[in-house]
Amino acid sequence: MVEDPQFHIDAATGLLRGVRQVLSPHRDARPAGQPPELVVVHGISLPPGSYGGPWIDRLFCGDLPADAHPYFAGITGLRVSAHAVVRRDGGVVQFVPFHARAWHAGVSSWRGRAACNDYSVGIELEGTDEEPYEAAQYAALRGLLRALQAAYPALAQGGVVGHSDIAPGRKTDPGPHFDWERIAPWRAGAAGVSTGG
Ligand SMILES: [Zn+2]
Repeated sequence: MVEDPQFHIDAATGLLRGVRQVLSPHRDARPAGQPPELVVVHGISLPPGSYGGPWIDRLFCGDLPADAHPYFAGITGLRVSAHAVVRRDGGVVQFVPFHARAWHAGVSSWRGRAACNDYSVGIELEGTDEEPYEAAQYAALRGLLRALQAAYPALAQGGVVGHSDIAPGRKTDPGPHFDWERIAPWRAGAAGVSTGG
């Protein structure tokens, strides 16, 4: 059995060591004194169902060419990002320092608390609602969750949710094939994670 990769977050910069960085302009500061308290898992592929291309990087950098694919015309103006993306092979790319606010959640609410971007970390898994994620992606996600909880202890209170949990009716990702059992200890509300009321 392959061990989960180990990651380390530099506390001063909020950046993962040894990981490809593509810093997105789609970010700003969290509310003063607000640490990350929740992790939101997403699924993304560009164009939908296609893996491995440069388009997620380009979208998050505000640089997606509208004419490269028919789907892109409708999303090229979006100002969105996530803190990190896990590619199909488990490779991690970081777009926003973890202490900063990435623009991944949109209109959202978790346990009565709105504006989830303020207090969450957004991690995108490259994938779709239609097929399973790869074992290497779960391994990388577990490694990231360990590193995040080491760097930001408040995350242990909140745990992990899906985008569909914080924007029900509007978002379906990471989709029905995301296997929560593979990150069971971290799931919000799991034993050992405070439900927070
Ligand atoms: Zn999402």
